[in-house]
Amino acid sequence: MTNEIYRFRIGTFECIAVSDGTFAYPDHSFFVNASKERLDQVLRQHNIQPGEIIAPWTCLWINTGQHRVLVDTGGGAGLLPSVGKLLPNLQAEKIKAVDIDTVILTHGHPDHIGGNTDAEGKPAFPKARYVMWKDEWEFWTSDPKLTELEVGEDLKQFMLALARKNLPPIQGQLYLVGREMEILPGIQAIAAPGHTPGHMALVISSGSQQLFYISDAVLYPIHLEQPDWYPAFDFAPEQAMATRRHLLDRVTAEKGRVIACHFPFPGLGHVTQEGERWQWEAIKTIA
Ligand SMILES: [Zn+2]
Repeated sequence: MTNEIYRFRIGTFECIAVSDGTFAYPDHSFFVNASKERLDQVLRQHNIQPGEIIAPWTCLWINTGQHRVLVDTGGGAGLLPSVGKLLPNLQAEKIKAVDIDTVILTHGHPDHIGGNTDAEGKPAFPKARYVMWKDEWEFWTSDPKLTELEVGEDLKQFMLALARKNLPPIQGQLYLVGREMEILPGIQAIAAPGHTPGHMALVISSGSQQLFYISDAVLYPIHLEQPDWYPAFDFAPEQAMATRRHLLDRVTAEKGRVIACHFPFPGLGHVTQEGERWQWEAIKTIA
């Protein structure tokens, strides 16, 4: 194991959290409506030097016994120097792209779809069915303008370019989800809109165990303690907050395990509720 690979089990399902690498975000982009003074204070409480947040891009590989599934594809090779490590990390675990039969895309942001295609622009997972929420596919393929987003024009163009590069080529292998349903035995799609129009979370169940793949519904553990702070990347902040509360209520009620894409790697743990706030309890990993 490395600090980019974390193996665990959910019932009989074999799971691996795989990092695509890390990215340094300006701290205010994660908490765009927080005052600088208060944000600096909270970051210091978390032993984070104000300025930037270094967050992983974590994907999940699942072997259900019947299916080999990948959830999200990272940024892809050559996008940025610090990411694009998903395929090499999978190969180091003797997992080949050609053996993956299902790729689930939780949403259309660059760090989740960037690895959909290879250097020639062809699907990087040639035998896989690619699964996405219907509204999400329709949004990114409808030439959106992203006027609502509180990010700079460069980042908007970057997002749109990545969607144009990585979505049309998978159309022939696409399966769209229009309602909450089982994608595969033990893998259920949950509507989690707000971060993007058709953002999807998953519940992965085997035996008596459950894992919630919450993707970017909660971007960083500090959002659990400060539930009114939202990231600049949330397309519809109020809807995203309602989704976050709904999902967290369910996760805590069902006492499921949680994996989140940008929490400190491997992003696996439990959420506990404390009144109107939540707390993150990361699993203890052996370094
Ligand atoms: Zn993300």
